Amino acid sequence: MAAEEFLTTALLSWYEPERRPLPWKHIDDPYRIWLSEIILQQTRAEQGRPYYEKFVKKYPAVADLALAPEDELMKMWEGLGYYSRARNLHAAAKVIHNELGGAFPSTFEDILKLKGVGPYTAAAIASFAFNLPHAVVDGNVYRVLSRYFDYEDATDTTAGKRYFAELAQRVLASDNAGRYNQAIMDFGATICTPKAARCTECPLATQCQALEHGTVYQRPVKLKKLQRRTRYFNYLVVRHPDFRIIEKRTGKDIWQNLYQFPLLETDAPLESWSELQQQGQWPSWLPIENLSFQRKVGPRKQELTHQRIIAQFWELDFQGEATPDAPDNFSVVKPENCRKFAFPKIIGWYFDDNLLYLF
Ligand code: SF4
Repeated sequence: MAAEEFLTTALLSWYEPERRPLPWKHIDDPYRIWLSEIILQQTRAEQGRPYYEKFVKKYPAVADLALAPEDELMKMWEGLGYYSRARNLHAAAKVIHNELGGAFPSTFEDILKLKGVGPYTAAAIASFAFNLPHAVVDGNVYRVLSRYFDYEDATDTTAGKRYFAELAQRVLASDNAGRYNQAIMDFGATICTPKAARCTECPLATQCQALEHGTVYQRPVKLKKLQRRTRYFNYLVVRHPDFRIIEKRTGKDIWQNLYQFPLLETDAPLESWSELQQQGQWPSWLPIENLSFQRKVGPRKQELTHQRIIAQFWELDFQGEATPDAPDNFSVVKPENCRKFAFPKIIGWYFDDNLLYLF
């Protein structure tokens, strides 16, 4: 049997959905499949599962999601990261509800038009919900195919991406696309894994070229090394017995529409309270003379795809008479209400570590 045909047949017969039971398998509701696929972008299945379950419970149909208040949705998403996914989900749900009469699009091209849906997600939804013949191509698929065929060129070039898109489409079981796509994804996640491939129990082993050539862990080849920019965030935790001050992130930056403590970003980490006061961007609405510095907590580090955030939390007791007159995107909230807002993970950690001290 030719190598391509062998791969397709072996993956289809290897696949047993029960091997990796997940709540979004065996369903053909495109709304739920879409929800699961957006959650699974950048998130492992085990981590995404409770989020999927709570979303389905709270928003059982696309109309429920479309009509949800944005702050509620962001709070539901809290801890999952890559918050643009939640914003796009909301925007697309509104389009389906308001412009498409609540009917989920049923062709690959129309699914691809939804905000936040790229070719991979569109292929997954089209094949799982409608059994349309579109191959998924993600990190799992790159790894399985580049190893099985021992592909030596980089996968992250235009030519490499085109090659894999065509190859993936060629080896797709086009009359059984949903099952095949599930199979190759599960196979990549459980057998042909990045660091500990289970080659001895692999149904493709007899024809796997990388196994034969001893190049399993050199595949796939990537050209670009991920560059991360380091940013230093100083959060001002302004404390008063009756309130805390929080700010909604509105700019075009990470964590848009999440909440945070008032932030001063600096080019380097700061050591002392006097350095913080002198670094020149102190907000004019927050009089320094009304604050008494208590302690600095941190640094805490959070790695994002392209950024590394180093955060320090400056705890400042507020002793003024009047509540500070902060701009519109700031809110003065009761200390016990703080956690009702959605914060980035790095602030969530601060809350968890300092709960007793904060309230
Ligand atoms: S033999 Fe090993 S490297 Fe080749 S496909 Fe199977 S698990 Fe992957």
